[in-house]
Amino acid sequence: MNNKITIAVDGFSSTGKSTVAKQLAKELGYVYVDTGAMYRAVALFAMRNSLITDSSFNKEGLIAQLPEINLKFVFDDKLGFAAIFLNGENVEAEIRTMEVSQYVSKVAAISEVREKLVSLQKMMGREKGVVMDGRDIGTVVFPNAELKIFMTASAEKRAKRRYLELQGNNQKVSYEEVLKNVEERDHLDTTRKDSPLVKAEDALEVDNSEMGIDEQFEKIYRLAQAAIDSVNSSK
Ligand code: C5P
Repeated sequence: MNNKITIAVDGFSSTGKSTVAKQLAKELGYVYVDTGAMYRAVALFAMRNSLITDSSFNKEGLIAQLPEINLKFVFDDKLGFAAIFLNGENVEAEIRTMEVSQYVSKVAAISEVREKLVSLQKMMGREKGVVMDGRDIGTVVFPNAELKIFMTASAEKRAKRRYLELQGNNQKVSYEEVLKNVEERDHLDTTRKDSPLVKAEDALEVDNSEMGIDEQFEKIYRLAQAAIDSVNSSK
């Protein structure tokens, strides 16, 4: 028997959650869901409609327009994972800019936004066989997930990785700007009233400050196999 499980990967921004979650889903033949991409797409919608700017945030306006936001993941052969579509448009690249990163945590703090996205996420994972990464997957979206991983790393290490990634995408930002953004998002994500970023009691913490990608993947893959074996042996 091979019953599938639900795997929640939560943690701070730029801990490499999505790299590991994507790889894990591929190895296990599971579906991967990047919930950060969903919050980023809503932030992009708000930006494009001038609902959020450097000096203003029209929360009521965004809440009123939420029914007009349609999000969908479509598998992209070239990327090897699903890209996010906002109202029919592939916005996978656009949601990764610094500008979106600057606004996304403000948008993610709105309860109505969270309600809409959490209900979509629950639907996407209802058949199990899913690796979902985010901030509240093990605490709110799938509190009964069979495996919960909580990833951490120092803010400096995370900013360095993100900085190199943005440089690779030809985005002109300084390391200091990236570090400031990482710290600001940590603050907003851990202090917001609705579903703050916290480690679920039963989550396994993986600090990858000093770990390479391969080492980290092997560790998490072993944890996943153990969780799958345990579910199957108890049936
Ligand atoms: O994972 P990523 O860094 O792309 O997420 C962008 C932002 O979206 C986070 O900083 C957080 O504010 C928000 N987020 C969230 N809950 C999730 C996933 C992301 O609040 N499940």
